[in-house]
This record gives sequence, structure tokens and C-alpha cells, in this order.
Amino acid sequence: MNTAPRKLNLDEWDARYEQLRRSGLPEPAYGGPLRRHVLREKDFRLQHLRFDNSPAALRLWNFLLTENERLHQARAAGHKIVGTMKDLGTVPVMACALPGLRAFYPDGAWWTPCLMECSDQLLQQADRMGLDASFCPVRAMLPAFENGEHFPRPDLLVCSTGAICDDFSAIAQRLEHLGHAILWWEMPRRRQPAAGEAACALPGRLAAPQIQVDCVSAELRRVGRALGDLAGKTLDDDCLAAGIRAANQARRLLDSLRRAVYGAPAAPLPCLEMLVAEMLALHFCSDREEAIAVLGGLLAEVQSRVRRNEFVVSAAAARIFWVNPVADLRAMNLLEELGGRICGSDYMFTHALDLIPENLPPLEALARTALADPMVGPTEDRAARIVRECRANRAEAVVVSRIPGASHCAREGEIILEIVRREIGLPAIEIEIPPVCDAMLPTLGSRLQALVETARARRTG
Ligand code: SF4
Repeated sequence: MNTAPRKLNLDEWDARYEQLRRSGLPEPAYGGPLRRHVLREKDFRLQHLRFDNSPAALRLWNFLLTENERLHQARAAGHKIVGTMKDLGTVPVMACALPGLRAFYPDGAWWTPCLMECSDQLLQQADRMGLDASFCPVRAMLPAFENGEHFPRPDLLVCSTGAICDDFSAIAQRLEHLGHAILWWEMPRRRQPAAGEAACALPGRLAAPQIQVDCVSAELRRVGRALGDLAGKTLDDDCLAAGIRAANQARRLLDSLRRAVYGAPAAPLPCLEMLVAEMLALHFCSDREEAIAVLGGLLAEVQSRVRRNEFVVSAAAARIFWVNPVADLRAMNLLEELGGRICGSDYMFTHALDLIPENLPPLEALARTALADPMVGPTEDRAARIVRECRANRAEAVVVSRIPGASHCAREGEIILEIVRREIGLPAIEIEIPPVCDAMLPTLGSRLQALVETARARRTG
């Protein structure tokens, strides 16, 4: 029996879970009530969020919130753990292609202070380690490595360098000085091919000089050798090509999900769950096959809701294009409470949403995709894609959310807003969202409300 889609708070999910359990809900090994993440892992933020009421969303949340636990279990079962930092979506494709390896992003610790409402003390510990609030919340990663209370210490730590932000570069170097050996690989800053220079097309309608693609291919080959040594199996072309096909399976599902949700007349799935689903593209939440199943479940739920003409956010909601992930997940709920819905997104890893070419030598295909990272090229390239997608998705306004202390945000938001206003004339704002935004809610609420009202007023004006 289908239940009308709506958002539930944690208390309501307790009752919903009991109902689902009694009716025989099949659950994966990591299943269970959402409440247990508050009781066991102290994920107190869940008490202030509202979640989609579908079993598919329950599975998504349980998958996300059990990642550290599943990584520890994988290690106990003999798997090797690869900590892959900063590249967002490249090295995990290689690691997952090899048997017995699990890849995760220690960078993901930046959400821990939000989920635990700072009860983990990670930001305070980072302060004491010399990484104060002038750094982005990714600084939580450093004490998480040191205290070992969150993710397992990786057997191999890989980090891209070169065209990366100052924050991450400084934090990763500090990590190495503390004794965590890192395999660095170079990511050049993407540039347009010069006149007469051999050029290469990249996913996302971008281009780069062939010499840059060759450089990244060579670097990834070096990473591949280290991964192969760890797995005890060579990462050859056949093996990597199979890994790319499997990664593309997840990317195709995500693409269908994004089209179905962002293109529907009203939102069939809340933007909070969509943000989490999009994050699965990065490293499959440490389990590629399960990530594919989770995405498949969400897509089936959304398709069924669209067929039934049932939605969680009404068609009257203002269509907002959202740029950058939020440090506090509560902000996603807030937008919908104020009459907005997300109709498109750029959470800083659009290259991980694009299909990896399957008609090229696999290492070159991966290198081209890595070079399409919006964060390694000019902001104008990122803005051009945002403008294109705003047009395609009929966005009515744009929000650029700043991450406190993040060096990449220093000028980028301003440039994106300028281009958006100039090219498509949409109302657009930049807001800063801290890891726990409760104290800022009135200010954030007023600004989002004003944007939503402006967007709606333009419909008739
Ligand atoms: S959020 Fe920005 S500053 Fe922080 S690690 Fe990511 S790119 Fe760097």
C-alpha cells in the first residue's frame, strides 16, 4: 500500500518505522530505526531535521549514517581501507575496481560537527591543533584522524594537490607532518588550450590541452599502481574499464533521479534527501553495489509518486538553483519551509555526475573526467554550467551558500552571482551557513523568504 509522501520529524519516524517493521519491511544489514543514530552515534542534529517518509529514504539515511560502522566491519572482514582526499569522485572509481578495497573521503568529517551538533568537539580540537575558524569546517578531519573515534585509519591515504584550495592543502600537509603518510598526486589547474595546441574535449562541455590530460593520466597511473599493490592485483585496463562501467551505472541512476525530481511540476522528493543522494556519486558511500541499490530504490519511489501525482513540495514553490553544499543540513529543510524547492544544484562536484567516457582508454577517460572538476578550473566555467542548467531547469532564483572560512568561497560566489545576473537576470543571493545554523535561522530565514517572494512576484510581474 502506498503512503502519501510527506516529511516527518524523528518522533514521527519512530512510529512510521514500527508500522513498516510490522508490515514486514525488508531491510539491509545496516537497516533499523533512524532514532538509533541519535542514541548510539550522538547524531543529535537528526532531532531537528525533517525526513521523507518513504522506505527508500530510510534506506538512504541508514546507508549514509552507518558508513563509519560499515568501514570498521569491512576492515574486520579483511578489506583494505583507502582514504581518498580532495579529488571528489576520481580515485574511488579506481579503488572500487579492485577486489578487497573500500574507499572513503576523510573530508566527509566536515559534516560530523553538524550531525553531532558539535558535541564531538572536533572543531574545538582543531582549534587547539592550530586550525581555527579561519579555516573551512573540513578542519574537523584532522582531529578525527588523531582520535580515531570516527572512521578507521586508512591503509593508504591518497590526496590530490596542485589545483586545490588553500585550506585543504594546509590541513593535508599538517596531517602528513603528524605522521600520516600521504600519496600525493598532481592536479593541474585546468586552462583553455592555446591556439594551435592539441586539445581534448572533457565531460561537461569543457576542454583542456592534451598535455594536461596526459599529465593527469600519468599521475593516476601512479595512484593505480599503489592501489594495485594494496589489493594484490594489478589495476589493468580491463579491470578499470569494468570499474568505470559500474560507476556509470550509479551516475546514470543519479541522472535519472535528478531529472525526475528537478524536472517534475512539483518536488516528489525533498531537497535534503536529494543532497544526500547526490553525495553518493563521490565514493558510493564506501559500498558501490549498495549505493546503486539505494539510488535505484529512490528512483522507483520518485517515479511512482510522479505517476500518482503526489509530491512533498507544491507546484507553487519557487524554483531555486542551489550552489555549494551546506554545512548544516537543516538549511535544506528551511528552504522548503519557506516556500522554495530546489530545481537544480551544483554541490561542487558536477564532474562526478557526468558519465565517464567508455569509448576511450580507461585511464584517459578518468583523467578527462577529473579535469572537468568545477573546482580545478576558472569560476567562469563553473558559472557557465550553472547558467545553462538554470535555463534548462527553469530556475527562478539562485542561492550560493558560503561555507564559513572556506578559502574557495572568498571571491567565487560573487563572480557566479554576477554572471548569473548578467546572463539570465535571475534574483540571486549569497548566504553563509555554519555547521549548526540555529543562531542564524532568523537571518537566513529572512533572506531566503525575501528571495522566494521575489521569485514568485516575478511570475506575475
Ligand atoms: S569547502 Fe572549499 S575551502 Fe573547504 S575543503 Fe572544500 S574546496 Fe576547500
